[in-house]
Amino acid sequence: MCVIEGDQQTDNDAVRIAATGVPVEQVNTGAGCHLDARMVCLALKAFDLEKLDLLFIENVGNLVCPGAFDLGEHHKVVVLSVTEGEDKPLKYPQIFRAAQVVLLNKVDLLPYLDYHVEKCKEMVRRINPAITILEVSGKSGSGMDAWYRWLWEMSVKGEG
Ligand SMILES: [Zn+2]
Repeated sequence: MCVIEGDQQTDNDAVRIAATGVPVEQVNTGAGCHLDARMVCLALKAFDLEKLDLLFIENVGNLVCPGAFDLGEHHKVVVLSVTEGEDKPLKYPQIFRAAQVVLLNKVDLLPYLDYHVEKCKEMVRRINPAITILEVSGKSGSGMDAWYRWLWEMSVKGEG
């Protein structure tokens, strides 16, 4: 696998990813707020595509532009944290409509928050009834098995 990491500035995320041994190409957009297909095309030159099974693209990380720009990806995945409001899906519906998966992240913090997971899920499904919602914690690793299973099933089906 490899990663195209899009951020306005810095290579901080690329440094973190490279430390895991995964090949990564950082794209800085400057004042720009999203990647486009041309940027992805240029970044892909950094990788040996023949050896590539899985490419992750972080599209800068806002909830607006990634819903609108086709980067040639097979699937869009939204990472939503429980430290954000439950009503984010209603405020930014386009990305939730375009995505196949929501990773509801930072669930390890739930004991410390007034956050209603079911309310959030209901709002996501109101926008996109077919979407898969997985509760995960990047910190503790909880829920990651289901996420890896989803990735594996998509690759076996040849859809990703
Ligand atoms: Zn944008």
